[in-house]
Amino acid sequence: MITLDRLVNVLGGYGVPLCGRPETRSAWLRSVAVPDATDRHVTGDLLLAVGTSSIAEAVRWAAAAHAAAVLVRPVETSTATPCASPSAAAEREAAALGDQLGVAVLVADSAVSWSQLVGVVYGLVLESRETASGRGPTDLFALADSLADTISRAVTIEDRHSRVLVYSRSQQAGDPAGRKVIVRSGKGTVLSADAVVLATGVWLPRLARQWGVRVPVRAGRGYSFTVPVDHPVPGPIYLPDVRVACTPYRNGLRVAGTMEFRDPDAPQVPARLGAIVASAQPLLRGVHWDERTDVWVGPRPITPDGRPLIGATKAPSIYVAGGHGMWGLAHGPITGRLLSEHITTGKQPTALADFAPLR
Ligand SMILES: Cc1cc2nc3c(=O)[nH]c(=O)nc-3n(C[C@H](O)[C@H](O)[C@H](O)COP(=O)(O)OP(=O)(O)OC[C@H]3O[C@@H](n4cnc5c(N)ncnc54)[C@H](O)[C@@H]3O)c2cc1C
Repeated sequence: MITLDRLVNVLGGYGVPLCGRPETRSAWLRSVAVPDATDRHVTGDLLLAVGTSSIAEAVRWAAAAHAAAVLVRPVETSTATPCASPSAAAEREAAALGDQLGVAVLVADSAVSWSQLVGVVYGLVLESRETASGRGPTDLFALADSLADTISRAVTIEDRHSRVLVYSRSQQAGDPAGRKVIVRSGKGTVLSADAVVLATGVWLPRLARQWGVRVPVRAGRGYSFTVPVDHPVPGPIYLPDVRVACTPYRNGLRVAGTMEFRDPDAPQVPARLGAIVASAQPLLRGVHWDERTDVWVGPRPITPDGRPLIGATKAPSIYVAGGHGMWGLAHGPITGRLLSEHITTGKQPTALADFAPLR
């Protein structure tokens, strides 16, 4: 929420004047409306007259929307007011029409894109966010998403050099040639890529569900620790009866076992470690079981049918690779090779058919 006065000051930096009605500068702007051909009852304090052909039409729309102000960027047509830049004549016309219908009119130069204007307006009015320079929203993703929801189309926000800044979450009906995946980290780092592979292990569904991946992935947690040995062990030992694996590691033995279905982020359960020791101890001599170091628990990403999830999601350019259960280390390299083939050729390799994430 801001005053019209503040908006006028900021938009002034983009060459957008307020035409007439100086007394309206103290009006508060709490909401922004965009014309909607299917909804005649759109209302808001500020109307963005996107798609209008003339200042007169924009002012009429604004009056119907009970808007205190309208932002118009007239396009040059044979019937419209010529306004490649807001000429004195256009400003006079806007002022007169605004006076007639009680609407403050802001006329933008056609050299300023709607993307820029909308970014500034939404940031100021809806999010009350200003950057150090006093303009613009800091969350362009939210802006793109909310615009996309409003107009039911894909939205791309670019800078003045036509470099893509962000895309809306939905890219349906978007331009495939210009499609990129934009990734924003929790810390705000933004990366743009032609394709993205989600490989977040047992946490995969949290991200991938929104793109149609419904197969659950559960944490089959395994425990591991390292213990000293009296004599170095020459090779790995697997104890099938008790399902414990031991691998030579730095003159000791790295021991792993247990399949515990529990929240992946839950703390270790000491009894599980005790159970591994109790089952393996009678089978091996010269192992110092009480001198355990490097104790950890990790989640194996398990799917109900035991098959991994490798391939495309519903969203273009977003893929997943996960759900390998007990075999993620062994099967990681071939997964990477086949998935990169899928991504670069656009064809699913036959070997991946059974692992389709949308099954
Ligand atoms: C004790 C034990 C022994 C094992 N031994 C073997 C073995 O001998 N051979 C074998 O093939 N496999 C083994 N496995 C299984 C193997 O470890 C897993 O199959 C493999 O790690 C799965 O790989 P992943 O990349 O899918 O998931 P992970 O290795 O779990 O990696 C996922 C990563 O994504 C990160 N992440 C999650 N969410 C986000 C997010 N939103 N943003 C950014 N990052 C995120 C996580 O922090 C994690 O680092 C063992 C597992 C255990 C527990």
